[in-house]
Amino acid sequence: MTDIVSEIRDLKARSNATILAHYYQDGEIQSLADVTGDSLKLAREATKVHNPTIVFCGVHFMAETAKILNPEKRVLLPDLKAGCSLAESCPAPKLARYQEMLRENGRKFQTVTYINSTAGVKALSDWVVTSGNAEQIIRRVPQECEILFVPDRHLGQYLSEATGRKMILWDGACIVHEIFSVGDLLALKKTVPGAITLAHPECPANIREHSEFIGGTEAMLRYVATFTKPTDFLVATEANMMWQLQSKFPRHRYLPVAGITCACNKCPHMARNTLEKVRDCLANGTPEIGWQSGFDRAREVLQRSLLN
Ligand code: SF4
Repeated sequence: MTDIVSEIRDLKARSNATILAHYYQDGEIQSLADVTGDSLKLAREATKVHNPTIVFCGVHFMAETAKILNPEKRVLLPDLKAGCSLAESCPAPKLARYQEMLRENGRKFQTVTYINSTAGVKALSDWVVTSGNAEQIIRRVPQECEILFVPDRHLGQYLSEATGRKMILWDGACIVHEIFSVGDLLALKKTVPGAITLAHPECPANIREHSEFIGGTEAMLRYVATFTKPTDFLVATEANMMWQLQSKFPRHRYLPVAGITCACNKCPHMARNTLEKVRDCLANGTPEIGWQSGFDRAREVLQRSLLN
C-alpha cells in the first residue's frame, strides 16, 4: 500500500468519514471508496451514511445533491472547482425566463431535469432524473403535459424515442460524451469483429445507432454481467468506467471508443480530484459544501424523484 493510500485510510477512520466515488473517478480513488456508483446510486447511498462526514469524490452537482439530501452531514468535495459542462449549460435564471415564456404562450408543461444540474435548476423543476430512472419518471408525467427536458439534448432525444413522449429539449451537452468519433468507432468495429458496443445515452444519435447496448453506467454493469464467456466490449462513456468494468468482470476485454480530439475520453472536471486532494480535504475538513437558501425546494424535488 502506498504512503498516501495508508494516510487517507488513517484520516478517514479518525474523522469518521465515508468516501463515495463516482465511476468516472480514477481507479485509485474508486478503490479507496466505501461505495462506488452512478449518480442515482450515490444519491441514494448518501442518505444511508451513518458517519458525520461524507467525502464526495465526483463533481460539484453530485456533492451538492448529497448535501441537499443530508442537511445535517458535513459534505466535502476534494476540489470545489470540479464542475460539469452539462450543468453549466443551463443557468437557473435562463431556465426561469424560458419557463416564463412558455407559460405566457399558454403551454402546459412539466420540467424534467437531468441530475447533472445545479440546485437552482433542480428547484425550478418538477422532476429530477438520472440515466438510471429517467424512463420510469417520464411515464409519471401526465399525458396532457408537454415535457421540457433539461439540460442534455442527446439524453432527451434518446428518452423521447424510448418513451414516445414529445419533448422540448434544452441545448446542452456533455463535453466528454458529445465528442466520440463515429469514424473511429466504425474502424474499431472492423478491427475487433464480434465486439459489443456499450454507449451511454448522453452520446449523440450517430454513436447510439451503432451500439448494441445503450444505458447508464449501472445498467452497463448489469448488462456485462450477463456475458459468461469472455467477450470484447467497446466502451463509449468516460474512460474510467473501464476500471470498474475490469475490476468486476475481468474475464472480458474492454476497449475505449476514441474521441474526435483525444484517444481516451476522460472528464477534465472529474480529473480535478486527486489522491492528494482527498487526503487534504480529510485532514483539513474543507472544502465543504455549505447550505444555501434554494436547497429546500430542490430537496423536495429530489426526494420525490429519487427516493420514492
Ligand atoms: S462526464 Fe460530462 S456530464 Fe459527467 S461530469 Fe464530466 S462533463 Fe459533466
